[in-house]
Order: sequence, then structure tokens, then C-alpha cells
Amino acid sequence: MQFENSRKFARQLDKEDKLSKYRDEFIFPRVNGKEVIYFVGNSLGLQPRSAKKYVDEIMKDWAELAVEGHFYAEKSWWDYHERFSEKLAKVVGANPSEVTVMNTLTVNLHLLMVSFYRPSGKRYKIICEEKAFPSDQYMISSQVRFHGYDPDDAIVEIKKRDGENNFRTEDVLEKIKEVGEECALVLIGGVNYYTGQVFDMETITKAGHDVGAFVGWDLAHGAGNIELKLSEWNVDFAAWCSYKYMNSGPGNASGCFINQKYHNKKDIPRFEGWWGHNKERRFLMEPEFQPEPTADAWQISNAPILAMAPYLASLEMFDEVGMPALIEKRNKIVAYLEFVLHEIDKDVDSTFEIITPAEQENRGTQLSVFLHGEGKELFRYLMDKGVITDWREPNVIRLAPAPFYCSFEDMYNFGQILKEGILSKQKT
Ligand SMILES: *Cc1c(COP(=O)(O)O)cnc(C)c1O
Repeated sequence: MQFENSRKFARQLDKEDKLSKYRDEFIFPRVNGKEVIYFVGNSLGLQPRSAKKYVDEIMKDWAELAVEGHFYAEKSWWDYHERFSEKLAKVVGANPSEVTVMNTLTVNLHLLMVSFYRPSGKRYKIICEEKAFPSDQYMISSQVRFHGYDPDDAIVEIKKRDGENNFRTEDVLEKIKEVGEECALVLIGGVNYYTGQVFDMETITKAGHDVGAFVGWDLAHGAGNIELKLSEWNVDFAAWCSYKYMNSGPGNASGCFINQKYHNKKDIPRFEGWWGHNKERRFLMEPEFQPEPTADAWQISNAPILAMAPYLASLEMFDEVGMPALIEKRNKIVAYLEFVLHEIDKDVDSTFEIITPAEQENRGTQLSVFLHGEGKELFRYLMDKGVITDWREPNVIRLAPAPFYCSFEDMYNFGQILKEGILSKQKT
């Protein structure tokens, strides 16, 4: 499609957009009385209007039923978390039994490593990407030390080539082969948080299995953003937070995928609690743990119902729209944003360098842009004008136009504001 950098053209795209009506289902913050242009759905998704109703319902049930709410609430609490599995399984390409919702992301990765990082003998190394999200670095390093190894020896980082912005699949495969039978676990962010690069998860998972390692994925930036087929790719485990693309609210519960081949393994180590116990017998308070025959066996505590309510509200919308429609719009709006950036770059004496892969299959919603010659003042200027972006040192802005609620006109308006911001600085 031939794009045009004009308001008229952007409005036409919005008119043709089948998802445009969902914009009104979200609440936008305002700056100077106007709704912001929100590019940080990859950090904290906007609040769905329906979230409040779901929370209010719990507050009402708690007030009116108190403890009886566990069984007699509108949506009973004892099995509240089970309401997520089927819908969330569609988002990540899994069987419902392989998906559960609990705790928060880094906590879940630690818990999953109890099961899937079991170093012994020669096999004790973890392969991850260089400059992983800090929480992942701390998590991996502390796990390695917990097992008595030296992080400098036990953590093997995949590196980018000099002068390149993204990882090459061939280099990842090469590294896995090289570490070979010393590799206990491959654990990578499926979508890189800094560049937005999508890893070839199917190929890398297979390569990890070929050397006898477990393979897990941190999908913080993947869930609700890209097409995932965790079952088909034979991934061992994955976890993601829900407050980024999945719009569940700050710090909300994390989703986990645990491949069904591990569900009935008697000898799999796991940290256990009563919410993972056979649900029919949970309240019999028997002394011996009987795991649920699903990913729910990894549940520990009773679920934080109030926190989960907005996540459920949001998930209902994902279910209504479906990932294919979201991905279709995502591809178009990201391509349009990329076009607008290139057009603005021609108009101003500046050089933008998009460090996110140019190919659609290697990226999701996020474009990370190096603003050569620009500083943090530009970021502040954008903020003042109601454009919320994410700034990362040294001078990268991350732009993620979430397809649920961002419009093509937002992309056009952003381009105009960016241009004014750069030109006004060049004049002074
Ligand atoms: C956002 C993000 C996290 C956040 O972890 P929490 O435990 O939810 O605070 C972790 N890892 C990655 C890769 C992320 O992008």
C-alpha cells in the first residue's frame, strides 16, 4: 500500500480499521485537556473501561458474602484463576491445561527454574542474551549462585555482532552447539525489550533440545503482541507479565506456560502449595500433596482475586477480538509509523535510525529509534505535548502503538509534533 503522510490519509486508514471502535473501550490519560498519544503499551497497557466493573463485582461479593464468596460469588473465588486458562491459551498458542495465571513474572521465572534449571555434573550452564532485561539478569545470576556455581562461568551470553543492532539466529544456534552438553537451560526474552526483535523461537527451541537442554522463554514483550505457538514449538516453559500488551493493570498477575509433557511427572521438582493440590480434595486438608494434572500444579497460594479481576476483563476483550485481527492491524499501524518517521526524517536535519528489524516477521508492535544528535530534551518536549514515549539511554525512544487503542491519526499527529520539536530546537 502507498502511504501518505497526511491527516486525511490517516483518517481514511482509521475509517477502514475494523478495530477502531475499541479505542473507546480504553481510558486515556489527558495532557492539557487532550487525550495523550500513548506509545507505551509495551510498558503499561491502558485501562479497559470494563476493568472497573470486574473489580466492583468482587468488592460487592466480598461485602455481601464475605467468606462465602469463595463458593457463591458471581464468579467464585476458589477457582477464579481457572477462568483464564482457555482464553489465555489462545493468546499464546497452547492447550488450556498448559496455561495458568499466578504471582508475578520474575517470581514465576524463579519458580519455573526450580523445575527446569537442575544443574548436575557437566551440565550446568545457562544460555541467555547479552543485556537481558535487568530483572532477568539478576534472576539468572542468583539462581546460578544458589546452586553453587560462578555466574562468570555458568552464564553464557549470546552476543550481537559488532556494529549490528540485532541478534542473528545463526549465532544463537552456533552458541548452543558450542556449549553443547554443558548447557542445562536456554532462557531468552522472546521479544527483546530494547529493540523489539522477535527471536525465532521454534528453531532455537529445537536447537536447545538437540543438545539436551530445557528451553524457556520470557514473553513479557511477546504475550498479546506477536503470534505464539508454544505447544507446537515444543517449548518447555514460558512466563509473561500481563500489564504490558495485555492491559491488566500495574503489577498484575503473570501467566505461565508449562508443556503438558511435564504435568504428570512424579519426579519433577517444584515448590508446592495448596492451590496446586488436586482441586476436588483441596479443602480436605490432607497431609500429602496431590498435584493437579495441569499447569495449575505450579500454583502455590490462593489467588489475589481483586488483582486478577481487571486482567480477566482485559482478557475477555482479547478473546473477542482474537490475536489474528490484532496482528493484522499491528502490522499496518507499525508500517505506517515507520513510514511517517522516514518522512519526518527527510524534513528535518536529523538522522533517525530504526534499530528494530525491518522485516515484519522479526518484529512486533515496537519500533525502537535511535535519535542521533537528539537528547532527553526532545523526550520531555514530546511529554509536554502529550506524546508518551519511553526513553532509554543513550538516546533511544521506544514506540509501541498498541493496535487495540492507537489510531493511524495518532501516528500522523506524532510525526507533526516530533517535527516541530526538532525544528524548534534547531532554531534556538
Ligand atoms: C517487564 C519485564 C519484566 C518485569 O518483571 P516483573 O517481575 O513483572 O517486575 C521482566 N522481564 C522482562 C524481559 C520484561 O520485559
